[in-house]
Amino acid sequence: MHPDIPIPPEPIVERAFSRMTEPFPWPGGARCAVMLTFDFDAETLWFSRDPENVNRPGILSQGIYGGRVGVHKVLDLMQEQETPATFFVPGWTAERYPQAVERILSEGHELGHHGYLHEWIDPKFPELEEEALDRGLASLLKVGGIRPKGFRSPAGESSPNMIRLLSEKGFLYDSTLMDGIVPYRHVLAGGTPGPVELPWHWSIDDAPYALFAVRNPRPIMTNSHILEVWLDEFREIYSWGGLVNVVMHPQISGRPSRIAMMRTFIQEVRKLPGVWFARGAEVAEAFVGAEKSSARS
Ligand code: ZN
Repeated sequence: MHPDIPIPPEPIVERAFSRMTEPFPWPGGARCAVMLTFDFDAETLWFSRDPENVNRPGILSQGIYGGRVGVHKVLDLMQEQETPATFFVPGWTAERYPQAVERILSEGHELGHHGYLHEWIDPKFPELEEEALDRGLASLLKVGGIRPKGFRSPAGESSPNMIRLLSEKGFLYDSTLMDGIVPYRHVLAGGTPGPVELPWHWSIDDAPYALFAVRNPRPIMTNSHILEVWLDEFREIYSWGGLVNVVMHPQISGRPSRIAMMRTFIQEVRKLPGVWFARGAEVAEAFVGAEKSSARS
């Protein structure tokens, strides 16, 4: 064995109930579930990746666009298209943009947890994971008056400790990992059931295609490029009977031409029969229901 390559620990998930390659039994006979999710990071996206960014108004202004304009344009579109959405919001962002949080809730969308300062998980400091979780919970309670059912970890990273904490704090679901097409349930150390996982993937996220940073420049893709990947993913996941968990950011998908693209995406998705547009908590509850009926049978 190569001495320098460490072996990862045991998987933090167990594929207990769901057969991961079979169509999921969606409620009402739906063929697939589509979650429109928005990681409403605003400025936290920028200062969590580099603390020096707090002193760079130009960089921060990209995030401010998300809080001032983007999130409201996204909400307008959800209203126009009559589609429910899930917003994962860091506590700091909720405190900075309370009007957006108020709109998210009063217009019937779901508010989920996304850290306090959009902290990137470092498994060397497990105590910081709990602190961020608690601070985020306190903010969402203070600003939105709710206790979120769902959590998405910033930057697509998690830890066994975080999954355990989510369970301990009573979260119904997590939506951070990329190891499936249908929901499944985590199994914690010792075999106890953990939260439901709602998997996603970078290919149906707006950031890899359109998040530009001067220090890490990437090409900015055209709408037709993004739409092609997203719709191809959607059509195949539809035929697999899976979950299409689209990850967007108001500061990216709230740009004018991207709003138009999202409208086209929703309209194309609607053309197929049996598409269930759902919030994260509804998808997780559908999983719980299927789990119960499979235990009975
Ligand atoms: Zn984020």
